[in-house]
Amino acid sequence: MAFIKIHQEKAENPTALVKLCPFGAIHYDNGKLDIDSGCKMCRICIKKGGGVFEYVEEKNAPAVDKSAWRGVAVVAEQTAGAVHPITFELLGKARDLADKINHPVYCVLIGYRIADKADELLSYGADEVFVYDDPALEHFRIEPYTAVLEDFINKNLPSTVLVGGTTSGRSLAPRVAARFRTGLTADCTKLDMQPSTDLDQIRPAYGGNIMAHINTPKHRPQFATVRYKIFPIPPKREAIGKITRCSLANPQLNSAISVQKVTEKKREVGIEEAEVIVVAGRGIRKQEDLAMLEELAGLLGGKLASTRSLIEAGWVNPRCQIGLSGRTVKPKLIITCGVSGAIQFVAGMSGSELIVAINTDPNAAIFKSAHIGIHGDLYKIVPQLIEKIKLEKGQ
Ligand SMILES: Cc1cc2nc3c(=O)[nH]c(=O)nc-3n(C[C@H](O)[C@H](O)[C@H](O)COP(=O)(O)OP(=O)(O)OC[C@H]3O[C@@H](n4cnc5c(N)ncnc54)[C@H](O)[C@@H]3O)c2cc1C
Repeated sequence: MAFIKIHQEKAENPTALVKLCPFGAIHYDNGKLDIDSGCKMCRICIKKGGGVFEYVEEKNAPAVDKSAWRGVAVVAEQTAGAVHPITFELLGKARDLADKINHPVYCVLIGYRIADKADELLSYGADEVFVYDDPALEHFRIEPYTAVLEDFINKNLPSTVLVGGTTSGRSLAPRVAARFRTGLTADCTKLDMQPSTDLDQIRPAYGGNIMAHINTPKHRPQFATVRYKIFPIPPKREAIGKITRCSLANPQLNSAISVQKVTEKKREVGIEEAEVIVVAGRGIRKQEDLAMLEELAGLLGGKLASTRSLIEAGWVNPRCQIGLSGRTVKPKLIITCGVSGAIQFVAGMSGSELIVAINTDPNAAIFKSAHIGIHGDLYKIVPQLIEKIKLEKGQ
């Protein structure tokens, strides 16, 4: 851990020194120079500050007082007032983790005209919802959202902060973690809590060949992001708990980004939302043959997805890739056709309720994950399935 030491006695022209920082993190107040959490450690002040600023590496940083940090906080994600279901998934996990150490579950809700959503968050397991409702927070803009989350952490000292592994969550979590000079583990697939309040952050590493267990024993808070559909949504309960309205002064809510217009993208049901998925693997010989699997998916009211092999071949849209470097899915039924069951693929679908695998190789790894294994040629089995379903449906 490193910090910048200020030699106040050497500061002959403090106003000029303030201007050195491109991030506006140096301040001169009441005759004293100070550096705030906006510092990015770019070290320009050290190079150009004439010896006033010194970079100091702490060899044996003092251990954090863990007892001062209490609570498992979830950062709620919302767009135009609609709460993303990943928030409920994280609240369910936060409840499990917090109960193990007898900590409260917090939820931070940031946006504009969103206060009415707080009750819903209480009903998914939050003990206290902190609402930052301000016109400046209507759209996700990184600077004010960072300032808000920083404010929440400074005032409430949560031990753990869980953020959705979504586009905005992946942007927000590392920024705030950097401000607290603490650790962040992205895309955790499992989380557990130790009695010491250290969070066990578990995720695949080295191409999915090992599961890494990551801890942040010397710093607080500890940050983790989790992708959508990794944890189940908990059952709703009575909305008991506290709602706390919070606000932040305007300069901190300023942003260099001004939103001119928001154009809604046509909503497509992605494979993450599908209840039935038919997966095409390299057992498919030609791109045209995908039509057969598409027909099966259509008959079951589902979606076609694939392994990385067919994405690399350019046969399937990359949005439809399941796995470690693709999407995580949790459908009610998944039928894999000609898929070997590589660990990187299985990591993205092992939570599915019913896994059916069709493969010609009796030793294929996919049979270890499947609830129903069909040993055979997909070119024979899939047409039979289609015929049977059509018959059942009277088509
Ligand atoms: C860092 C990293 C990240 C990765 N991320 C992903 C990821 O996100 N998703 C992903 O899918 N992969 C990923 N991979 C690739 C992964 O390791 C595998 O190479 C890939 O999943 C294999 O795809 P497959 O099962 O379609 O093909 P193969 O492994 O070639 O398997 C084809 C299977 O089809 C069977 N088969 C052949 N003909 C028939 C038939 N007529 N009927 C029935 N069965 C038949 C074969 O027996 C075989 O088991 C990643 C790899 C790395 C290194």
